[in-house]
Amino acid sequence: MAGTALRRRLSWQVAPVSAVVPETPSVRTITLDVPDWPGHQAGQHVDIRLTDEDGYVAERSYSIASAPGEPVAITVERLDDGEVSPYLTDELRAGDELELRGPIGGYFVWAPPDGGPLLLLAGGSGIVPLRAILRHRQRTGSAVPARLLYSSRTLADVIYHAELDRPADGVEVIHTLTRQQPPGWTGYARRVDAGLLGEVAWPAAMMPLAYVCGPTSFVETVSQALVQSGYPPERVKTERFGATGGS
Ligand SMILES: Cc1cc2nc3c(=O)[nH]c(=O)nc-3n(C[C@H](O)[C@H](O)[C@H](O)COP(=O)(O)OP(=O)(O)OC[C@H]3O[C@@H](n4cnc5c(N)ncnc54)[C@H](O)[C@@H]3O)c2cc1C
Repeated sequence: MAGTALRRRLSWQVAPVSAVVPETPSVRTITLDVPDWPGHQAGQHVDIRLTDEDGYVAERSYSIASAPGEPVAITVERLDDGEVSPYLTDELRAGDELELRGPIGGYFVWAPPDGGPLLLLAGGSGIVPLRAILRHRQRTGSAVPARLLYSSRTLADVIYHAELDRPADGVEVIHTLTRQQPPGWTGYARRVDAGLLGEVAWPAAMMPLAYVCGPTSFVETVSQALVQSGYPPERVKTERFGATGGS
């Protein structure tokens, strides 16, 4: 049986798109009706493959935005000069089909037995797998304390805004807006660095479990600062989206 599940994960399959929902002007959540989905862990990703009429193929990875047990969803940020993301955010409609394989990844994942307290650090679309972790925490009734620091360029760029405004018990959501802040903004207004982490992160002595996700530069800065502040490297899990996304 394990062999069958593995083959299913590694082989490409076609899934109908059941919904496309706008999150921000440049971000869409795409829900897929994947036949025989083997289930996934919070934090895993899928690969998406697009093939054009000439047979040209482009493959990209997207974190799974939904919790285990929920329909598979991905949340994609459009990069105007990108190859794949503009198609996914602007062209794809409910009823279309997407080719995908997965779930993939066994390191950047969380389940209640992993414990906490959880320190979640997101830059831009790096919020996606962390949202899956928060939803999984809530759906399983976990009481592990969780703190999310989410860096976005502007308020309009905050993904899952309404959901994050109603955090579950035991979850704190802290925003920083790096480029522009609305009048009366009381959150942070600077990039995440060692100083900001010193104000927001759980103390290392509490042995938190940190998940850092976003553009590569964000992940490097944040993970290094956490380790320098005393977090054991094995308690700082990182997922790099590349030189993309915004924070
Ligand atoms: C594990 C993982 C999970 C991810 N999850 C998500 C997610 O949940 N949501 C999400 O939005 N993204 C996610 N990503 C990023 C995603 O895989 C894509 O990289 C992203 O969507 C951009 O793809 P694209 O084809 O639109 O852009 P690309 O065509 O790949 O271009 C990306 C950028 O690179 C530049 N570029 C391209 N080619 C060159 C070149 N030759 N020289 C210089 N610059 C170049 C482009 O100008 C553009 O700014 C994830 C990545 C990984 C690895």
